[in-house]
Amino acid sequence: MSYQNYADIIIDISHENLDKTYQYAIPKELVQQAVIGSLVVVPFGKGNRQINGYIVGLSTEPKINTDLIKPINRVVTEAPAIESHLIYLAYWMKETFGGAMNDSLKTVIPVRKAVKIKEQRSIQLAVGMEQANQLYFEYQRKNNTARLRLLEALIKEPILDYDVAINKLNISRATLQGLEKQGITKTVSEQIYRNPIKNQKEQYQQVLLNEEQKYIANDFIHEYDEGNRATYLIHGITGSGKTEVYMEMIAHVVSKGKQVILLIPEIALTYQTVLRFYKRFGERITIMNSKMSQGERFDQSVRAKNGEIDIIIGPRSALFTPFQDLGLIIIDEEHENSYKSETAPKYHAVEVAIKRAQLTQSSVVLGSATPSLESYLKAKKGETKLYTLTKRAKEAEPPSVWIVDLREELKKKNKSIFSEKLKELILDRLNKKEQIMLFLNRRGYAGFVSCRSCGYVMKCPHCDISLTSHNNGKIVCHYCGYEEKQPTNCPTCESKYIAAFGTGTQKVEELVKKEFPGARVLRMDTDTTKNKGGHETILAAFSEHKADILVGTQMIVKGHDFPKVTLVGIIAADLSLYTGDFRASERTFQLLCQAAGRAGRDVLPGEVVIQTYHPEHYSIITAAEGDYEAFYEQEMLYRRLMQYPPAAHILLMLITAKEEERAEKAANHLGEAVKQYFADKQMEAQIIGPAPASIAKINDIYRRVIYIKHSEYGALIEIKNYLEGYFSYSEHFTGCNLQFDFDPMSNY
Ligand code: ADP
Ligand code: ZN
Ligand code: ZN
Repeated sequence: MSYQNYADIIIDISHENLDKTYQYAIPKELVQQAVIGSLVVVPFGKGNRQINGYIVGLSTEPKINTDLIKPINRVVTEAPAIESHLIYLAYWMKETFGGAMNDSLKTVIPVRKAVKIKEQRSIQLAVGMEQANQLYFEYQRKNNTARLRLLEALIKEPILDYDVAINKLNISRATLQGLEKQGITKTVSEQIYRNPIKNQKEQYQQVLLNEEQKYIANDFIHEYDEGNRATYLIHGITGSGKTEVYMEMIAHVVSKGKQVILLIPEIALTYQTVLRFYKRFGERITIMNSKMSQGERFDQSVRAKNGEIDIIIGPRSALFTPFQDLGLIIIDEEHENSYKSETAPKYHAVEVAIKRAQLTQSSVVLGSATPSLESYLKAKKGETKLYTLTKRAKEAEPPSVWIVDLREELKKKNKSIFSEKLKELILDRLNKKEQIMLFLNRRGYAGFVSCRSCGYVMKCPHCDISLTSHNNGKIVCHYCGYEEKQPTNCPTCESKYIAAFGTGTQKVEELVKKEFPGARVLRMDTDTTKNKGGHETILAAFSEHKADILVGTQMIVKGHDFPKVTLVGIIAADLSLYTGDFRASERTFQLLCQAAGRAGRDVLPGEVVIQTYHPEHYSIITAAEGDYEAFYEQEMLYRRLMQYPPAAHILLMLITAKEEERAEKAANHLGEAVKQYFADKQMEAQIIGPAPASIAKINDIYRRVIYIKHSEYGALIEIKNYLEGYFSYSEHFTGCNLQFDFDPMSNY
């Protein structure tokens, strides 16, 4: 018998070797039913045992002698399995974003890996409330911060999930053992107490939604009950009560017996946020984060599949939770860069969410104070429904914003990094015992080491990146971790005028201490948060007012509520403005809005000082006025003029090789192929490159890029498919690697 169609089939999809596929023939009468993702029954092994498998690829070419290829027995169509759906989603991702099917499958399917059955443990208060309160004051007096943190949490919640408490509160085992020995706390394992937060649910006090919130929740619920499944965008300023609205929506969808995925950027997934959801939804909720082991994640997915949970909160990867009857996907802070994967498939969570929702009859809700241009454009076009929240929920007034022109400061002979205005306001806050955040919106601008005599700049020997000076006398590469001692003499001209320039967070911290000697200063950046829990430790200390000033990079502006912060200073707003990335203005606007949103979150009114050399730039003016609409209009003009996303689409190709010449030749060949392709099709397209990437070398690997701009995403997918094929068989590309990125969000 002869066949025309073949299928690649995976037998055990939870196995580590997802790439282990077997080819089977598809009998004519099954061709219609046998699609990517189909569950099939096939004969396997010598005895032709009948087993289940999934189709992950289709072709018309046999890979081996056709006599050896067995036919598929049957396509199971009765009950569509969640796996079929996820495999199809993986296939769609591979097609839409590029990369290998195997990488897509690994992204989407949770892989079992020697799962250790971990007992569910909780930490409980073993003493009465009165004694707990006494101890609380004792620890406070003794400045025993770790104990204080745990006790404070236990006073609020007498039973805490063990892992949540240890990780989020950053409590060491020694601290815990100490408390246990003294009989203040006890650790209880699952059998005795399965659900650590059950009792909390009754304590939950629902807030009364305001008119704006009520309108959104009711409208969504109404449409949901009508059977409408759609994508919604909630545009609401920071603190306008988006999270409360999400909770209403979630409660409704769960009450219909369906499940919900809530994506939150990992950095905003704080203990407080998690607790807020636990309080309302109790045991039917779970969280996922990148610190979890593969085993733990697999566990979560098993629980989801078994229907033990209704809601998962997590970063990008939680999007693939295998719920059987998904009803809603919410993406908070949808404009965040972290929703775009940096490894193949380089997918965007918003797009995948919309696809998964389509496949499962679910709705999608996006939320942001500063929506991405992509999402806002869709709302304008009517593809998504736009909701707006215009007021802060807690009565707090939006902060007053000052824009300070740094050029004027220089004219006034003020050479410090603090303008007169900022200095004055910092002193005022220090006097009033209120708190201050100083924000540097880009790390690494800073601190490059150069020679003032000959101009030589110290660079990493492995990467095309200047080395950054650190306080410990070393200079470090932020890309590969290479470090060396800072030289005392210039390596080329031997002059001793070699030194660090620019302003990094470390430098700002130093200068703050010098300028305001009485102030207590904390610093938060990638260096100070390297250790597990470093984040929470610094934030906890700041929220306990152990410091007056918090200096940091963008990680300090994400979602933390500090009621005593009444002043936010942005040291140099321009740092994110001229990064050579077409999204630079958008990033700047988002960062400035977020930073401004940190000031005056509670009853105390807030002020914001934006220091800049470009006070006339629209992203700075509109951010100061909190005018998203005006920013959007300006920025879209630029994107349309330049044919940048979302006005058009960009396909980036990154060609890498160990030898520079090889990379260059391959890139040139690929560039020719691209031109030829469009010429043959008589299609217009803008092609930029090939050229060395803006970081031309990382870790001794040379990098070249080609950009194609086109108004149709579909046209770019077609050329991607064509080039993928060409790249795999042409010998021009031996020893090279090719990656695709659609509408890139990072610098190459
Ligand atoms: P967002 O998610 O938009 O930043 P949140 O939902 O976190 O806003 O709300 C900000 C603060 O206002 C929270 O402390 C929240 O409990 C409170 N809040 C939200 N809605 C209301 C409301 N209707 N009444 C009272 N407080 C509210
Ligand atoms: Zn020199
Ligand atoms: Zn390096």
